[in-house]
Amino acid sequence: MKRAIVTGAARGIGLATTKLFLRDGWRVVMVDRDAPELEKVAAGLEGVLPIICDVSQPDQIAAMVAEVIEKEGRIDALVNNAGVADFGPIDETDFKRWRTVMETNLDGIFLCSQEVAPHLKETSGAIVNIASISGLRASTLRVAYGTSKAGVMHLTRQQAAEWGEWGIRANCVCPGPVRTKLAMAVHSQEIIEAYHDAIPLNRYGSEDEIGEVIVFLCSDKASFVSGQIIAVDGGFESTGIGLP
Ligand code: NAD
Repeated sequence: MKRAIVTGAARGIGLATTKLFLRDGWRVVMVDRDAPELEKVAAGLEGVLPIICDVSQPDQIAAMVAEVIEKEGRIDALVNNAGVADFGPIDETDFKRWRTVMETNLDGIFLCSQEVAPHLKETSGAIVNIASISGLRASTLRVAYGTSKAGVMHLTRQQAAEWGEWGIRANCVCPGPVRTKLAMAVHSQEIIEAYHDAIPLNRYGSEDEIGEVIVFLCSDKASFVSGQIIAVDGGFESTGIGLP
């Protein structure tokens, strides 16, 4: 049976992706730093191993991966989904805010991937990194978040280029807006309405619509897909319209 690690699995896109992996017969290591929430949701699911871990902390990542290997024996996919949002322009983003975003969104993916890659080499496994349409275009609001997500895209290409010879595939999913806790904390009513107008399908996406693409990219059906940046955004990116 295949094993996936999903970071940020306690809610939102990570939780939906976990359930889709389970539907397809995978076992899932659910990783999150929110201990109460993780324990609550994992208790209601069959086929999961919950591990509390902050993906910005190298020591916690090393311990998490050691536990996965001890208890599960193999890793076939890593979904680097844990993320934080912070909408602010350059002038209002002090170094602490900047670092807080980078530590989870970019350092976390670098560190988790580096720790897991030797195990993915054993299984010819896959990595899916979650960026955002916010990393595809500049906006007046998202210096730290958008820059971190642009970095995730390049890191993905780098992983595909360097680890392809190990049989590892790496791809990046850029979700459009989804009504999760993360998005609703930073999307004003004005942003919500502007997204509805700007997205050709005229709506937000669902967690499952993002998760289905993630699970596909981890599956054997995507065995020749690597190094790709895939927007799952109702057509928004294709319009060239600026971010709300
Ligand atoms: P969410 O806030 O609902 O879930 C994020 C989860 O990540 C939470 O359970 C949180 O506890 C966990 N997490 C955060 N920092 C962590 C850390 N350092 N270590 C371990 N766990 C941590 O958010 P979501 O909307 O489901 O976001 C998932 C991913 O999708 C993020 O990378 C986000 O940037 C990206 N994304 C979301 C949207 C959207 O509109 N919701 C759009 C584009 C991209």
